[in-house]
Amino acid sequence: MTKAIRIHAHGGPEVMHWEDVPTPEPGPGEALVRHAAVGLNYIDVYFRTGLYKSPLPATIGMEAAGTVIAVGPGVTAVTPGDRVAYASAPIGAYSTERTIAADRLVRLPDGISFATGAAMMLQGMTAQYLLRRTYRVKAGETILVHAAAGGVGLILCQWAKHLGVNVIGVVSTPDKAELARANGATHVLVGYSDLPAEIKRLTGGAMVPVVYDSVGKDTFMASIDCLAPLGMMVSYGNSSGPVGPIDIGLLAAKGSLFLTRPSLATYTAMRADLAATTADLFQVVLNGAVSIRVNQTFPLSAAADAHRALEARRTTGSTVLLP
Ligand code: NDP
Repeated sequence: MTKAIRIHAHGGPEVMHWEDVPTPEPGPGEALVRHAAVGLNYIDVYFRTGLYKSPLPATIGMEAAGTVIAVGPGVTAVTPGDRVAYASAPIGAYSTERTIAADRLVRLPDGISFATGAAMMLQGMTAQYLLRRTYRVKAGETILVHAAAGGVGLILCQWAKHLGVNVIGVVSTPDKAELARANGATHVLVGYSDLPAEIKRLTGGAMVPVVYDSVGKDTFMASIDCLAPLGMMVSYGNSSGPVGPIDIGLLAAKGSLFLTRPSLATYTAMRADLAATTADLFQVVLNGAVSIRVNQTFPLSAAADAHRALEARRTTGSTVLLP
């Protein structure tokens, strides 16, 4: 048997239960991984509440690091004993052992611990594709990053600075502002009453070429108004709730804007893209340009407490759950 956090109904953190489940056998193309650390991500909340759909009962979680303990027929990319990490569907990471398609696994470099691996795969690959592919930032630009002291946020701040880009971060408390600044943000706004006016002031009227907005419902319209003409609105999350339907005429009226709602799954669907994204991420972590801030750890069995902290905006940086 193995242990897993399972949900039998969608709802609040209380629907998560620590249960015995049979250890799965790896099928063709699969590996059985023993988790050493599991990553906490906001997407886990969406699967718990039912905003994102999955059949029940379910074991949530999309990210972990650990050791391959068995492989199914046809698997050659990894072998038992390999240190690996992943950030991928299907859900199931809140468990001590699980099977997953072997082509979703990436070997962890020796210099990266399991805890760091579990913390960085999903948030770090997201920062990579946002900065390098969705909108390819250029040195000297000034960009706007919401939730700048969060998991994805602190990685975005550090990586953007490494690329010579000025980050204007938005956070909710002075402590978070200090943290975002210490991680490379040039300016940090603590809440705001008129975000576009603040951005106008900070950019001398130029506004920004791109907004990375993970907050969703509460910030979408203000973010649109922070963009320079032909700017790109990157709406990549729903921490405050999903953005509703949009009249595309808005994009014309606000300056021929571009709008995208990207997902890591698309950007890493091909094995070659997964390999290139992780190679880029491992490089900036190993050379010290980006430090993965694991600012909270919880026992995996207490994942409900971790969810409460995340949803109450009490976490900063990344959070790891330990089996
Ligand atoms: P964070 O660590 O960023 O935590 C969420 C943060 O959002 C909070 O700390 C808070 O920061 C801010 N926030 C603003 N409004 C609310 C609210 N109403 N309720 C809760 N939090 C709020 O989480 P992650 O780094 O795990 O993820 C960040 C976002 O990015 C999520 O929306 C996630 O879904 C998205 N994401 C999207 C991906 C994609 O490919 N599309 C991949 C990875 C993540 P503050 O207090 O400073 O406002």
